[in-house]
Amino acid sequence: MTIAYIGLGSNLDSNLPGKINSPKENILSAKEAISTIESTTILSVSSLYQSKPVGPQNQGDYINAVAKLETNLAATDLLNSLQDVENEHGRKREEHWGARTLDLDILLFGGQIIQNKRLTIPHKELCNRSFVLVPLMEIEPECIIPGKGKVSDLVLNVDKTELKVV
Ligand code: ATP
Ligand code: CA
Ligand code: CA
Repeated sequence: MTIAYIGLGSNLDSNLPGKINSPKENILSAKEAISTIESTTILSVSSLYQSKPVGPQNQGDYINAVAKLETNLAATDLLNSLQDVENEHGRKREEHWGARTLDLDILLFGGQIIQNKRLTIPHKELCNRSFVLVPLMEIEPECIIPGKGKVSDLVLNVDKTELKVV
């Protein structure tokens, strides 16, 4: 069993069969979908946070959360399953850091450091993003980021002025 932390984000409505979901609904629906991934259990989920977009500014604010999972999957298989969930929520891969219906990033996977064609773990931007560090701190205040240090220290160095719980 491996403990993994996932970052969830959405800033675009998705057209699910018979239903239009707001960003907030996309995050809640993603949580449901993640709970059905094989050999994987959700242990906890943070509050939902609203944040300003990274990169292009001509897009709406994001809703973000962090989930703690327990999984028997290998990291790449977990990524495959998370990308299936993104696709089920109408994810289109267009502009880099552009608006999206659902983004699911693997932030941490056990204590592992992984660097291959498809995965960089810990997530490469983890330490720079308040919308990741704050919800991670909320659910795992003692968390250590391999190679980077304590989340409780890292969270002190990021701008939290535009982040709020919703
Ligand atoms: P960012 O990585 O800066 O948050 P993004 O989430 O917008 O950007 P995507 O377009 O969603 O980036 O993903 C591009 C690729 O990143 C994916 O196809 C995946 O192979 C790769 N990737 C590398 N490391 C990770 C990770 N830890 N979690 C999820 N995807 C990752
Ligand atoms: Ca991302
Ligand atoms: Ca992503």
